[in-house]
Amino acid sequence: MYCEKCYHIVEEARCPFCKNRRLREPEGKDPCFLTEQDYVSTGILEDVLQQNGIPFLKKALMGAGMAIKVGPMLERNRFYVPFEQLESAEALVEELFSVSEEDGELPEEDGGQPEEEE
Ligand SMILES: [Zn+2]
Repeated sequence: MYCEKCYHIVEEARCPFCKNRRLREPEGKDPCFLTEQDYVSTGILEDVLQQNGIPFLKKALMGAGMAIKVGPMLERNRFYVPFEQLESAEALVEELFSVSEEDGELPEEDGGQPEEEE
């Protein structure tokens, strides 16, 4: 089910994140919470999503005032993608940030060069 308040897709009848009970079936264009990343990972993820043609919303967790106080490096961002793109976006996030349990081998390569070149 889909929680309109916090944009999470949840299995439960009640949202475990914000306790919202009024959940509904997700629709294709619904923005869904994808992941939360720090400043560095945010840049990487933005690039990858763009390369894969996945539209996304980015929301900073701190207000601008906070970011000035602690510095942009500590800023965290939340990413939201349309429900219809959520699965592919999740797969990308997993590829990017998953702790390598299998020696960090990527399941597929599509000829692109996402890493920096020397
Ligand atoms: Zn919720």
